[in-house]
Amino acid sequence: MSVTDEIKERLDIVEVISGYVPLKKAGHNYQGLCPFHSEKTPSFVVFPDTQSWHCFGACGIGGDIFTFIQKRENLEFVEALKLLADRAGVELEAREGPQPAAERHLERLREIIASAAGYYHHLLINAGEAGIAREYLTRRGFPPDTWEAWQLGYALDSWDAAGSHLARAEYTVEEMADAGLIIQREDGTGHYDRFRGRLIIPIRDAQGRPIGFGARVLREEPGRPQPKYINSPQTVLFDKSNVLFGLDMARKAIRDADLAVLVEGYMDVLMSHQVGVSNVVAGMGTALTEQQLGQLKRYTRNITLALDPDAAGAHAALRGLQTARDTLDREWEPVVDPRGLVRQVSRLRAQLRIATLPDGMDPDELARADRVRWLQVISEAKPVVDYYLSVVSQQEDLTTAHGKAALIERMAPLVREVGNAIERQHYIQRLARLVQTDERLVTEAVQTTRMDDGRTGTPGRRNSTAQNGGAPESSPILAPRPAQALRLGRQNADFGLEEYILGQLLLRPDLLPSLDGELIGLTNTPLAAEDFATGENRAILAALQTAGAGLDQVLDALPGSLQDRSQGLADRIRRGPALTDDRLAKELGDAVLRLRERNLDQRMRRLQFVILESETAGDIARLQEYKTLMRSYAAQERHIEKLLHARTMTGSLSKDSGTL
Ligand SMILES: [Zn+2]
Repeated sequence: MSVTDEIKERLDIVEVISGYVPLKKAGHNYQGLCPFHSEKTPSFVVFPDTQSWHCFGACGIGGDIFTFIQKRENLEFVEALKLLADRAGVELEAREGPQPAAERHLERLREIIASAAGYYHHLLINAGEAGIAREYLTRRGFPPDTWEAWQLGYALDSWDAAGSHLARAEYTVEEMADAGLIIQREDGTGHYDRFRGRLIIPIRDAQGRPIGFGARVLREEPGRPQPKYINSPQTVLFDKSNVLFGLDMARKAIRDADLAVLVEGYMDVLMSHQVGVSNVVAGMGTALTEQQLGQLKRYTRNITLALDPDAAGAHAALRGLQTARDTLDREWEPVVDPRGLVRQVSRLRAQLRIATLPDGMDPDELARADRVRWLQVISEAKPVVDYYLSVVSQQEDLTTAHGKAALIERMAPLVREVGNAIERQHYIQRLARLVQTDERLVTEAVQTTRMDDGRTGTPGRRNSTAQNGGAPESSPILAPRPAQALRLGRQNADFGLEEYILGQLLLRPDLLPSLDGELIGLTNTPLAAEDFATGENRAILAALQTAGAGLDQVLDALPGSLQDRSQGLADRIRRGPALTDDRLAKELGDAVLRLRERNLDQRMRRLQFVILESETAGDIARLQEYKTLMRSYAAQERHIEKLLHARTMTGSLSKDSGTL
């Protein structure tokens, strides 16, 4: 569950708003004087069933718990999120936005790391002593262009060169230590440089900001063995479990190729990029972590592990697989069971493959020696199920009944998650052959394997009738066409319109201005916060409006929980059919109109409730106002229905002429 969902589940909107506005129960709902405009009789209504509010007076606005707090306290979404999280006792991750003091410290650390990176790079290019590093790089096949692109550097073989340099730039000892650049002496008499006489490889975050360093030894000293590589220690900036080396340089290529190749070492990444295979990154250890996968899935669902063919590599791959299974979102697929009931079964929505390298070669050597062969190794990577099967069948003794049973037991959960039904059947057949048993038994094992994710009915979130349209899994692409939607809309069946619109715009932020232009032409109003029911969706729209150059920029402008949400929306759209720009523009326009139609519809139903209340109270003046408002809503709705109808006609006409 996302933090925002958790907050909404823990807090009751009536209770929260009561803290600001005295509310009186009226039927199912609650009424009070609107806190946003001045009035004598209450036109502000809180709806507990949908956990939302609306002012039917002068403001005519509404929203959810977040939008109320934002508006009442005059806060940005992130700030409202913090306030409500605090109140709900929900812990926010650090990435939701650090405290100002911590933020300043973080900023200082970024500066000091960037400054150190520049210093080391300058030394690599200019220092006489760095000759050994320049020779090393040249021998390994890296020309100066590559040194430049990755801002490679050299640390002088000195105990205090870096420390003194940074002190002159007015960084404190504490800051240098916090950034992991210097180490305190054991006897407490000062500090010394962490990196000495080594090749320096800056490690950058996905935005390209240096956050730490890898450092390779260059001088072998007999009798004093040193680790080949040392890295920055864990710091507030540098979290090994969260870093993918090269991601800043690889992310565009990963998205373009729709594939990320994971290798083990810095040099593997450098060389692969140098020969033009740029969708390659490295983890900071052997096993893929959840956070790393979380980062990668912003760009692709296809991950190939190109690991050393030794046992350690195999083991790491299996652990990586386990992580992936725990981390990656699942796709829900309706399955009709023998009794004719529709069940939702989850399938892993990622393709994990294992590339097997030629014996004794690592990706660095292979890429340098033979670029074409390197590409071939990547493209011939085996699905992880095949790979796992070969490992497991070596581990189990298949001549015994116990071994056969163990093999099936270990493979069944994996096979069950294979997304494609034909592929799944293929593995079932292979397993049956391997243990020489009946296919039906294996099928049964696969179907009944203990997994907690097979659910009946609608998957996804609780409360699917919530005002935000719930059921994110339902595909708006498959949502009813406008004519049907007009009817189904009243039963709240067109879930996910908000999500559909945002998802499309997240993938194509460049379409927002023309969409706004079209909407202004049709209804005088561009896409606006008020079109969306929840604070989350409004914040995503705001990010699109301000940071709209591309998906990455929009994501960077959002707090962590909304990044995940946005990524999820974009992914769902990406899985749908590709549309031409014209078609997409039309679908977007239709979707916004349908959304507005739905919102008006909901508003009218709610207003009806308020009208009944004023009738009971005998408030004639108010009653007249509300009836005028109702007529205005009805007129707006008719206008939108007409627009939608006209668009359906022209849509089908142009479609027909297109097929001729
Ligand atoms: Zn108001």
